[in-house]
Amino acid sequence: MQGIKYIDEIDISNKRVLIRVDFNVPLDEGNQITDDTRIRSVLPTINYALDENARVILISHLGRPKGIPVDSMSLAPVAKRLGRLLEKEVRLAPDCIGAETKTIVENMKPGTVVLLENLRFHPEETKNEAGFGKQLAALADVYINDAFATAHRAHASNVAVTDYINNVAAGLLMKKELAYFTMAMEKPVRPFVAIIGGKKVSDKVGVLSSLCNRVDKLIIGGGMAMTFFKAMGEEIGKSFAEDSALEAAREVIRIAKEKNIKLYMPVDFVVADKFSAEAETKVVTSQEIPKDWMALDIGPATVTLFTEALANAKTIIWNGPMGVFEIDAFSRGTFALVSSVANSYALTIIGGGDTDVAVHRASEFAKMSYISTGGGAFLEILENNDLPGIAAIRHNQQRQSAV
Ligand code: AMP
Repeated sequence: MQGIKYIDEIDISNKRVLIRVDFNVPLDEGNQITDDTRIRSVLPTINYALDENARVILISHLGRPKGIPVDSMSLAPVAKRLGRLLEKEVRLAPDCIGAETKTIVENMKPGTVVLLENLRFHPEETKNEAGFGKQLAALADVYINDAFATAHRAHASNVAVTDYINNVAAGLLMKKELAYFTMAMEKPVRPFVAIIGGKKVSDKVGVLSSLCNRVDKLIIGGGMAMTFFKAMGEEIGKSFAEDSALEAAREVIRIAKEKNIKLYMPVDFVVADKFSAEAETKVVTSQEIPKDWMALDIGPATVTLFTEALANAKTIIWNGPMGVFEIDAFSRGTFALVSSVANSYALTIIGGGDTDVAVHRASEFAKMSYISTGGGAFLEILENNDLPGIAAIRHNQQRQSAV
């Protein structure tokens, strides 16, 4: 899958194993973790390494500390939660490089876990600096990348590091993410339907074009539908639209026509007289958006139309909400669609970010086949079929097999 080897295909027993994970969890003002999904999702990899008696050295970023140590972005709460989940001591090293960290790692016993402090306390991390990657690599015998949600970034801990270590592979979360991606994108059971929502066409134009080569039906909702309507010359009142993406929207419509893909657009909207929870609202058809109002959610007829389009689907991928779901008055379209997707008989793959939040708020996560841990990474792999973090593993493995 993706031409790379995984942790369970290489020898890690008793070795020092450096694992890049994504522990970028949300914290509240009291520095308490509000959602530990990202920690739980890499437990299979960590447990696998521990079962192999490896010395497990974990590296991650948290937040955007901009290259300097910031107390509120310390990984200390993560070390504590991980320790509780593993029922094992997880020591937090005060830094991810340097003499003290080196000593801590050298003194590790087989079957123990150390978490190194936030990678982004060093500016070299996001600059993908070779020297920083080399220092990380020097801590271990084996490097594993299990940070799918960060794999679309070319940073030192997932790209440069792979130039300085011989044994490199991907983790079990990465394996799972790529297995679902492959099921949907390489040999999808048809009909294959993609639902793309959210705000901006410009963020997703590459994904939309790529999907046009694979899906049978494309459903467009959310703020981005307004850019499509504007591009088609419709009146959209004061709705959000991206003037710079009108041509891109027309191009997607053109490609969909050329490839014979059924393109579904909203037929009605919940419109509001202002962008506010207190706004006056009404449901109008897509031809009747009043000049001074804005469309903030899809309407009930659209929910019926989209649900009908999903009825015979065998594979569904979804990224982006259908409206401003953060405000109750404009959340019904997104939640109704969550339930349509959850009740379908399809393989359902939810692409991270806001869609993940909506599915959890609707308590329908158990009915989805898979919810990706990556938002940006999910979109980028849909677009390019590859990610810098995955390509780095592949290049390393190709170099090793050529030796
Ligand atoms: P994205 O990050 O592109 O997936 O966009 C997600 C955001 O799109 C959410 O915060 C929604 O509130 C917003 N959104 C969805 N529909 C609309 C709309 N009709 N007008 C303005 N914003 C929207």
